[in-house]
Amino acid sequence: MKANVTYWLDETAARFPDKTAYADEKKEITFTELRAQARAIACELTERGLFKKPVAVFLEKGVEVLVSFMGAAYSSNFYSPIDVDMPGSRVNKILEVLEPAVVITTGALREVFSAYDYKGAFLLLEDVLAQEVSLTAEGEGGFAEPELSAREAALEAARKRGIDTDLLYVLFTSGSTGVPKGVTINHRAVIDYIDWVTETFEITEKDSFGNQAPFYFDNSILDIYSTLKTGATTYIIPKTLFAQPVPLLEYLKEKKINTIFWVPSALIVVAKLKAFKNVDLSNTLRRVLFCGEVMPNKQLNVWRKFLPEVQYANLYGPTEITDACTYYIVNREFSDEEPLPIGYPMANTDILVLNEKNEPVTGEEPGELCVRGTSLSMGYYRNPEKTKEAFVQNPLNQAAPELIYRTGDIVKYNERGEIIYLSRKDFQIKHMGHRIELGEIETAVSSLSEISLNCCLYDEKRQKIVLFIEEELEKAYINEKISHLVPEYMLPNKVIRVEKMPINANGKIDRVKLKELL
Ligand code: AMP
Repeated sequence: MKANVTYWLDETAARFPDKTAYADEKKEITFTELRAQARAIACELTERGLFKKPVAVFLEKGVEVLVSFMGAAYSSNFYSPIDVDMPGSRVNKILEVLEPAVVITTGALREVFSAYDYKGAFLLLEDVLAQEVSLTAEGEGGFAEPELSAREAALEAARKRGIDTDLLYVLFTSGSTGVPKGVTINHRAVIDYIDWVTETFEITEKDSFGNQAPFYFDNSILDIYSTLKTGATTYIIPKTLFAQPVPLLEYLKEKKINTIFWVPSALIVVAKLKAFKNVDLSNTLRRVLFCGEVMPNKQLNVWRKFLPEVQYANLYGPTEITDACTYYIVNREFSDEEPLPIGYPMANTDILVLNEKNEPVTGEEPGELCVRGTSLSMGYYRNPEKTKEAFVQNPLNQAAPELIYRTGDIVKYNERGEIIYLSRKDFQIKHMGHRIELGEIETAVSSLSEISLNCCLYDEKRQKIVLFIEEELEKAYINEKISHLVPEYMLPNKVIRVEKMPINANGKIDRVKLKELL
């Protein structure tokens, strides 16, 4: 029985020592190297007395981020990636919630980080890894370096002290009040999920993943940990390629990537430009999995037309339940207009669809999708209020304590018993694959002294974030002013000026009236 994901790494490094685990634009790392480097970081964390503590990782996306994640996990600490491109004020909000015990970074990035509200410790990757390389070199010839073995014994003790309900990571998502929420996930949830993924899609060491998801987004869990468990390889695809469909497909072909798990937005870009006519992937790609937002059949049908032999699967789920909780393996034809089901619950997961009276829906009645199971987050980090709102007692069980997670997603069952995603019940949106609370943008806009009232809506059809204001201000001006508060993907795509903000009977901004102006 495994209580820590890094036992997978031990086993895989023993089975495939020289096989590439992860690769980015600049380097590749074998399972042996990954294990050695992660353990060097872990030894350092343990030596500093850190156990079950938050470890922030502030690095450019690449192999080193994964080495750092594993270092935190090995030492029974938990990691939280901080995007280097995130505006400073948002980083500060995350730091306020997370209170990291240490920040893993490089000497160069430490300079950037020193501008933030953080007075704590750093762990510079180059220092620790230089030490690891020299120790490994000295250890060659069968002589274990004495200092290393003492440190490693302490590390092993720390790993054994940890249990499977200890946290593995905290991922921050958009929060409606402007403060990002830290979703906590433990080792057991990831072990359970990856067991399901690797069994369902029959992942082995022969497979290669093409990673698209940023490491601060939970879709990346599938690539990272399926690789760790099975000995497959993950290629971290350079971000710039996602704007160039032909080079992107050429990259998949060159690296012999046979499995991708992307957000639908990334798949749609490829389908729109019909890049398939230029690059034949029929002997390369085996599985196209996606999750994170609605996948329109219109674009999926383009993929299916060019690559009919590929296995396609629609996974659904929020960060709060460890990436995904339902799935649908595409097994029949769909017209362009039909919705693609999100399917059925994954193994060891129970889905409850509850109506407004908290009763299970009947027939095709819509209701809120709620989840029960090992995959559930332990709640939001240092945020008991938000945790209590979303993680509640199962209304169908009056007898024993049992939590369910209320996703806020409205779904229904179709006549085949498959779950169909319909809409959101609140102001959370998905824009180009990013989860955004419109309230977070509104909070940022309201910091402008020139603006009195503002409201953000999402124009689903045109995929645009639309900001309504009463003042005559240019979009470029507003976006420039708020660019230090919210990430680029949250900046409004359109600004509409209204004479007077419509107000409803409750005295709130009338979003229904504003919607008519879209
Ligand atoms: P995140 O926490 O970033 O993974 O976002 C979770 C939200 O994305 C869910 O609550 C849904 O609203 C949406 N979502 C995720 N997967 C799908 C899917 N396959 N189809 C439709 N919406 C999805």
